[in-house]
Amino acid sequence: MKKIVVIGAGASGVIAALKLASKGHAVYLLERNNFIGKKLLVTGNGHCNYWNSNIDIKYYNTDNLESLAKILVRKEEVFTFLSNLGIYPRVKNGLYYPYSNEALSIQKIFESQLLNSNIKLITNFKVEKIIKNTNGFICVSADKDISCDTLIIATGGLAYPKTGSDGILYPWLKTQGLKINTLSPALVPLYIEEDFSKKWAGIRSEASIRLYIANSYIKEEVGEIQLTKEGISGICVFNISSLVSKALTEKKEVIVSIDFLPSIKDSSSFLLNRINLLKKGNIEQLLYSLINIKLIDVLCQKIKLDINLDINKISKSKIEELANLIKDFKVKISKVGDYNQAQVSTGGVSLSEINPCTLEVLKVPNLYLCGEVLDVDGICGGYNLAFAFISGYVVGDSVND
Ligand SMILES: Cc1cc2nc3c(=O)[nH]c(=O)nc-3n(C[C@H](O)[C@H](O)[C@H](O)COP(=O)(O)OP(=O)(O)OC[C@H]3O[C@@H](n4cnc5c(N)ncnc54)[C@H](O)[C@@H]3O)c2cc1C
Repeated sequence: MKKIVVIGAGASGVIAALKLASKGHAVYLLERNNFIGKKLLVTGNGHCNYWNSNIDIKYYNTDNLESLAKILVRKEEVFTFLSNLGIYPRVKNGLYYPYSNEALSIQKIFESQLLNSNIKLITNFKVEKIIKNTNGFICVSADKDISCDTLIIATGGLAYPKTGSDGILYPWLKTQGLKINTLSPALVPLYIEEDFSKKWAGIRSEASIRLYIANSYIKEEVGEIQLTKEGISGICVFNISSLVSKALTEKKEVIVSIDFLPSIKDSSSFLLNRINLLKKGNIEQLLYSLINIKLIDVLCQKIKLDINLDINKISKSKIEELANLIKDFKVKISKVGDYNQAQVSTGGVSLSEINPCTLEVLKVPNLYLCGEVLDVDGICGGYNLAFAFISGYVVGDSVND
């Protein structure tokens, strides 16, 4: 029987340990915090969106889609494993939450499953150093150490470091010759440097946003955008933030074009018809009920249009300019939120360093990686926890006697 150490009792580490224990291995689970699953508690605003009905590579960013596809192929098995642990779902538009709607209940399930297993959970054990020798590995903390034949690193990425994931083991992984793709914050708000952002702070609007990197169109997201005093936020913004974060790290120009009237195709004809319909009034009144009132002011200032101008006195070209701006409001992104705001980090250990069927490191036999420590990050919707669970399960399933 092998002695196996799992470092990190977050989403991926707990599932790896539980799967291993179900096969009768001696498993030691090391966690630097004094309890398990600290990050789980803050997921989904405390509700924990732990799965999605449509898990597919297209919802992830990674450096190796082929390997990711081989990992995700295990999703059905993993969902059954989670259900057998006692997680009963409530499904809203394909997004899975625990029926209780409490992240705490998932953390409690994990806690009790660990308690009922033969896994030796050691909390307050922060691995600061790993020594590799001919027998295996030694995990060293400030005051103790533990040796093992097989080591699983499930320490997460760099996001939300107050929950325990601070990337302390990346330098050691680098010394083992592994390629670590540059890490940066993702699922974060985006910042702009424009005076008008102070004026639009607090507005929420249905919008479609288009991402351009170095003048090339990349992708579109639709949803509620939140306009903040720093820039833009909301789920549709989070969903492009990983790509933005990477592009800014590479010093590429990032432009986001916001369409504030996505359901209206020809905004110019629409506004001209509306002038005919209303007959009287000013520009602000023309846009009432279409555009948030604070935003009307921002739009007019941007194209130097008097908000009080009589709609009968506005030129056709100025109406076209206004109509175009409503559908193509460009902002230049100056930076992304930091790791304290980020839900995940993008980047990490390249998937080309691991065997996608087992998650064993190709260059270091008996070393396995799972979860966010790898270069995989998903959009909002339960994809990140799903990847943590699936990868943890694959590792737990592949370590043999
Ligand atoms: C605010 C917030 C909301 C989120 N909401 C969602 C959501 O609703 N749905 C979703 O799918 N994803 C969500 N995520 C992302 C998701 O939580 C993570 O992708 C996932 O938890 C990653 O799992 P992991 O096991 O790789 O790492 P983590 O969950 O970060 O676990 C890593 C564990 O390793 C421990 N550790 C780290 N270093 C050491 C060390 N040296 N020694 C010992 N222990 C160590 C840490 O303390 C931690 O417990 C959210 C994240 C945040 C921050």
